[in-house]
Amino acid sequence: MKLDTLWDKALGQIELAVSKALFSTMFTNSKLVALKDNRVIIHARNNFACSWIEKNGKDLVLTILQQDNPQITELECTFSVQSNIPSPITNSSRKITSNNVDAPPILSSINNQTTNLNPRYTFDKFVVGQHNELAHAACSTVSNELGTSYNPLFIYGDVGLGKTHLLQSIGNAALAVDPNKRVLYMSSERFTTELIDSIHNNTISKFKKTYLEIDLLIIDDVQFLAGKEKTQDEFFHIFNILYQKNKQIVISSDRPPHSIATLAERLRSRFEGGMIADISQPDMETRVAILQKKSDEKNFLLPEDAAVYIAQNVATNVRELEGALNKVIAICEFGNKIPSVESVKDILASTITNKRPGSTPNNIIVTTADAYSVSIDDIIGKRRTQSIVRPRQIVMHLLREELSLSYPEIGMHCGGRDHTTVMHACRKIDNELKEDEILRHNIDNIRKQLHNL
Ligand code: ADP
Ligand code: MG
Repeated sequence: MKLDTLWDKALGQIELAVSKALFSTMFTNSKLVALKDNRVIIHARNNFACSWIEKNGKDLVLTILQQDNPQITELECTFSVQSNIPSPITNSSRKITSNNVDAPPILSSINNQTTNLNPRYTFDKFVVGQHNELAHAACSTVSNELGTSYNPLFIYGDVGLGKTHLLQSIGNAALAVDPNKRVLYMSSERFTTELIDSIHNNTISKFKKTYLEIDLLIIDDVQFLAGKEKTQDEFFHIFNILYQKNKQIVISSDRPPHSIATLAERLRSRFEGGMIADISQPDMETRVAILQKKSDEKNFLLPEDAAVYIAQNVATNVRELEGALNKVIAICEFGNKIPSVESVKDILASTITNKRPGSTPNNIIVTTADAYSVSIDDIIGKRRTQSIVRPRQIVMHLLREELSLSYPEIGMHCGGRDHTTVMHACRKIDNELKEDEILRHNIDNIRKQLHNL
């Protein structure tokens, strides 16, 4: 079999085994460049994808390749260094040390520009877990390769899960690599206000010109542009020009582009044309790691069992986790005490109330079945009447989008269905969402219920 054909076939199976976002980050533009004896060499798009494939994807790729070529037992990954991109590791004249990553205000003043960046938000203060691995990877790659890797980059996730932190880190890191880059961070609300002001003051051309000179434009919480047609028009215009000039655009939202109601179709398709990565809720282990990192930063001693107690009880979002920790720190520092599980329990008694159930496979099935007035047995059962097939497909879509499950995993949760059935269902809903406002609305409502909003 020719190498291209062999790799295409393998990619088809890899796509089924991993989440959509992971697949596009790690395997887009990958090639099988050599097969000799028991060894294959895969060429990946960049350093990050390359080390991910070697570290985490190797077993999967080898297992798949071995189906046709059982002799293959070794995998090596390569990537090409793009010489026009400054690399923070290899470029010694601009070597990043943790010091200057931490000190973007000085860089910003050298740069003499308004960036709206908060120096507090840097990659080294960000804890990476399974829930944000992909988003972090994409952001980190983008900060080193402005405009050339993932453009636009769209990060979505619920509130308090670290979107702003990541977006700002891109800006701070990009300036640490090259202080001459023009970086602008804007919330979409502020973008709207400034646009309206400029229309009133007759300064709209100046407003636009500022944007068109930017190397990295970060627009946070883009869902607030929903329904604002004039603002969307202007943003679309700015977006297109920057995009054509290979300038980097990074966007965040609390939901994926297709779930933002009344977002102009052309903007939606622009957003979907780039890289989309989601952030979900951190698992227990990551929550403990976040608590420990934040305590260290504040030189506060947080015993492991106290950290575990907080992490067990504040499970939904990092902002709340941080809030709980700050409360513990304030009270313990005041009394000059090291927190114990008992004292933490007391301190947080009023904070830890009803927790949100969030998205779990079970919740998704129950909530969707409920919304469509069918039973759980209908969803996982074999009947194929339209009134049941529809919610079943929506469940599959939500399992994919909310939990990033692979097609086989989704099949398993939906009564042991084949992965091709799942893939078909997910694609069908994805396509329909582009046109069908009512479907979007229904799915949004299910999500809101899932998240107790
Ligand atoms: P969002 O923009 O998604 O609502 P933020 O970026 O404002 O969330 O994050 C809320 C708080 O939680 C911030 O103080 C941020 O520093 C912190 N945070 C979120 N995720 C992480 C993480 N993985 N590691 C460290 N801090 C985090
Ligand atoms: Mg935010």
